[in-house]
Amino acid sequence: MAEETKTRAVVLGGSLAGLFAARVLSDAYDEVLVVDRDTIVGVAEARRSCPQGKHINGLLARGQLAMEEMYPGITEEIFADGVPTGDLCGNVRWYFNGVRIQQQAAGLTCVSASRPMLEKHIRRRTLDIANISVLERHAVLGITTTADKGTITGARVQPVEGGEEKVLDADLVIDATGRGSRTPVWLEELGYGTVEEESKKVGLGYVTQHYRLKCDPYHGDLSINPVASPELPRGAIFTKTDGGRVELTAYGILGDHPPTDQQGFYDFVKMLAAPEIHEALMQAEPLDEPVAFRFPTTLRRRYERMTKLPAACWSSATPSPASTRSTRRA
Ligand SMILES: Cc1cc2nc3c(=O)[nH]c(=O)nc-3n(C[C@H](O)[C@H](O)[C@H](O)COP(=O)(O)OP(=O)(O)OC[C@H]3O[C@@H](n4cnc5c(N)ncnc54)[C@H](O)[C@@H]3O)c2cc1C
Repeated sequence: MAEETKTRAVVLGGSLAGLFAARVLSDAYDEVLVVDRDTIVGVAEARRSCPQGKHINGLLARGQLAMEEMYPGITEEIFADGVPTGDLCGNVRWYFNGVRIQQQAAGLTCVSASRPMLEKHIRRRTLDIANISVLERHAVLGITTTADKGTITGARVQPVEGGEEKVLDADLVIDATGRGSRTPVWLEELGYGTVEEESKKVGLGYVTQHYRLKCDPYHGDLSINPVASPELPRGAIFTKTDGGRVELTAYGILGDHPPTDQQGFYDFVKMLAAPEIHEALMQAEPLDEPVAFRFPTTLRRRYERMTKLPAACWSSATPSPASTRSTRRA
């Protein structure tokens, strides 16, 4: 095989973090390869490995600015695809401690896209970049290292349908596999010790359903958001989104979760600080079944506190791509 001197970054996981990472790495590496176990190209629905795709995905103002900086013009492209917009303070009806807050435009753009819609646009723009490619329907099995385990040299993957395992050689590997990341296990197996974890029990439960409305509770607003408070630890985001639909995610904490049977869900919503949500639902057409997602605890992994890390782990000590030019290739 001819000697290969191109640099390559491999990104494990092709969801939001993986796509943003690939976009950034495309400026510094000759090739960027994104691996995901789902089918991701052309997908416009919630994916199996991304169950949060069925729930609300509020993009805050700083997120919108970061997205626009990385993909100039993307915000307008998303609006042109039928995503409603407004001002996060001027057009969002917030209730705190059960009291409706006065609205005032703050110049903060709200992109009221469903999660699959947002991901679809970010993915399209990322995969349009010439030196980024994708390997979908491949499960990441592990990472490969030099014999002394001092440097990460790539990742082991296998088609989800079964078949031969492959090694993807890389100068840099980014783990963007989300909450199920195996990096703590891999580091421990390689002798780097245990990653410190911080967690808090929250017992948070979400239930989401989409509707076609038959009346207008918004009166020019974009979203109605009663926020949970100590007195009423139940809240919701009831927002106009793409496809002419409205999306309702209701939530409760410490085990006080919205039920997923239709009547139970309506009864939960009736307790919220914004009575107009329940009134609108009584005349609305549900477009799907209520679906649940539970977060028993929060989890923060403190990688920055590890005393040693492999050479190609993401850190300020990571050598620049130019200094890691490699002769390794799969
Ligand atoms: C119910 C819910 C509601 C949320 N609401 C909001 C919100 O309103 N606003 C907000 O900003 N954030 C919200 N979040 C958080 C947000 O969804 C996550 O922070 C974000 O999805 C993380 O992106 P990610 O790319 O790191 O991981 P993920 O989106 O979880 O993606 C991980 C990717 O890795 C792939 N993968 C995993 N393991 C493997 C493997 N072994 N092999 C190959 N591929 C693999 C998966 O297929 C997937 O594509 C919410 C989360 C949840 C659960």
